[in-house]
Amino acid sequence: MPAREILLYPDRRLKQVATPAQPGEVDAIAADLIDTMDALGHCVGLAAPQLGHLARIVVVDVSGHPKAPEHNGRLVLVNPRIVVASGSEVGREGCLSIPDLTANVRRATAISVEHADGTVDSIGFEARCIQHEIDHLDGILFLDRVASIADDVFRRKRYAGAGGSGGSGDGKPPSSS
Ligand SMILES: [Zn+2]
Repeated sequence: MPAREILLYPDRRLKQVATPAQPGEVDAIAADLIDTMDALGHCVGLAAPQLGHLARIVVVDVSGHPKAPEHNGRLVLVNPRIVVASGSEVGREGCLSIPDLTANVRRATAISVEHADGTVDSIGFEARCIQHEIDHLDGILFLDRVASIADDVFRRKRYAGAGGSGGSGDGKPPSSS
């Protein structure tokens, strides 16, 4: 299946709050997300609104990423809700919907997420990615979470292969992923 086009900021749909996913739409939207994520290769997560589906579904897969020694493999989270969050850390994020920028964003370092099929516990890089994607479901972009637009937002260097400081969110980090 062909990869879907990713909506780019300032598309208004990226700022809308997605509605709870209904059983009849979950499979098709999840397939769209997974196909698109796989087609992009470097992508560690994607939220349904980025494809124009205003339903509460995200996919995250940080397996194989050097910054994620611990992870839950491929996650398809339907109607996810963060029920426990602890720790706090600033890290660099990128976003496929804002391809030219990265930013320092403060996130919880450990979370528990309830979703349609159970609960998942996540830490570190994967937890950051999940928080980034769930934000998309509420119309929140990573730029909305930076402490200082002047100090914490960076123009992405042209993608130049391996090396660099890494990052997360759904985009390709400054270096790879
Ligand atoms: Zn994003």
